[in-house]
Amino acid sequence: MRLLFLGGVRTVTGSMHVLETEGHRLLLECGLFQGHRREANLKNRSLPIPFDVNMIDSALLSHAHIDHAGNFPSLAKKGFDQNIYSTPATRDLCSVMLRDSAYLQEQDAEFINRNNLYDPDLGPVEPLYQEHDVHKAISQFVSVDYRREFDVSPKIRAKFLDAGHVLGSSIIQLDVKTKSGKTRIAFTGDLGRKNMPLSNDPEIPVRPNYLIMESTYGDRSHEPVSDMKKELSRVINQTYQRRGKIIVPSFSLERTQVLVFLIAQLFREKEIPKIPVYVDSPLSVRLTDIFKVHPDCFDEEVRRTIESGKDPFGHANLKYITSVQESMALNTREDPMIIISASGMCEGGRIVHHIRNNMGNPNNTILIIGFMAKHTLGRRIVERQRKLRIFGVDRELNARVEVINSFSAHADKGELLDFVEQCGKELKGIFIVHGDEEQSLALANTLSTHGYDGVVVPFPKQFIEID
Ligand SMILES: [Zn+2]
Repeated sequence: MRLLFLGGVRTVTGSMHVLETEGHRLLLECGLFQGHRREANLKNRSLPIPFDVNMIDSALLSHAHIDHAGNFPSLAKKGFDQNIYSTPATRDLCSVMLRDSAYLQEQDAEFINRNNLYDPDLGPVEPLYQEHDVHKAISQFVSVDYRREFDVSPKIRAKFLDAGHVLGSSIIQLDVKTKSGKTRIAFTGDLGRKNMPLSNDPEIPVRPNYLIMESTYGDRSHEPVSDMKKELSRVINQTYQRRGKIIVPSFSLERTQVLVFLIAQLFREKEIPKIPVYVDSPLSVRLTDIFKVHPDCFDEEVRRTIESGKDPFGHANLKYITSVQESMALNTREDPMIIISASGMCEGGRIVHHIRNNMGNPNNTILIIGFMAKHTLGRRIVERQRKLRIFGVDRELNARVEVINSFSAHADKGELLDFVEQCGKELKGIFIVHGDEEQSLALANTLSTHGYDGVVVPFPKQFIEID
């Protein structure tokens, strides 16, 4: 059999791999490439699959992030009609995330056409996919709970293990029958961290022979998880004393729910004053509703909160906002408050309005709790640039900028090594994917110096034979 690495290799987005066995071709992930508009558009339109999509016999998905799941509607649009296996929470999150993605694709196409940014030889562009393509893809999902084995083909048995990264995220374990017995392949998807709020700790596959593993932070160490709540309490209290507002750009999936959970805990423990909290993002509100119907995915702490009759994602001082009028009404308020909004990197959406309205006042705080890619407004805020260009106008950044790094939902260098060490001694090959090139190469180097053989950082479109 062989593995084919198609996307999310030597880069972080666009995850896509194929396992070819005798008689079955299995797709792992179908992620969207994210980056500069033009480059992303071109890459996503020409799916990097080197054969007809009807030659794929089944697909498995580790979690609902768009860089892992976001191109399944294109696959469905091109005629792929087989099962897409995931956990139940991943399927439910995908139905919301992919519809949101279709809406963004339609807006994107409209922008390109309105501003004549398309290739004149080819004419106006169509959206990458639309809502009806999402509905088709969602109808192909087959949900299987964690730790329930299922047959993908007569020779491939699969199982999802908890990856502890976001709600429903999984490590995919595949047992392939071979002439000499069985080969176990484990694909980490995105690997979470121990002791994170809401999630269980990542599970460890039992003695896999091959690992396909992520390396987002292959060469970096995070602040300890225990800092998260302490730092959050400090920032809220200090801003409250200045009678300022706290503006938090936050990813809608998982990061917002973790933040809301910790703030509700701090209220109950009387560590922070009764400051109003607004979650101002329609997508975050829809995703939080899905969290509420999957108590099976939470750790002991959240389950205890639910069993004691409390809402882990609600509190008397916390309000979820969907309407534009309510969102705009926050602009005129002068009292201290926390506004959590999207997008996570401040590239669009309601957060940009909140930043524009509050960045000039030195009593306010912009609280950064997520990764900010180069060339985003979020990155310029992290760099504390004196002037920021928003909606075509340069504006002064006088608000305080606080950065808390401990919120990361990806295992760091030490945690990745720890994971491999716990996988046992039967590893014959480790394929490092899903990381910027220097991060992937650094992790490969760390593993080799710890005595692991067969560590490879594949190139895009590379085939690797395994046995
Ligand atoms: Zn992810």
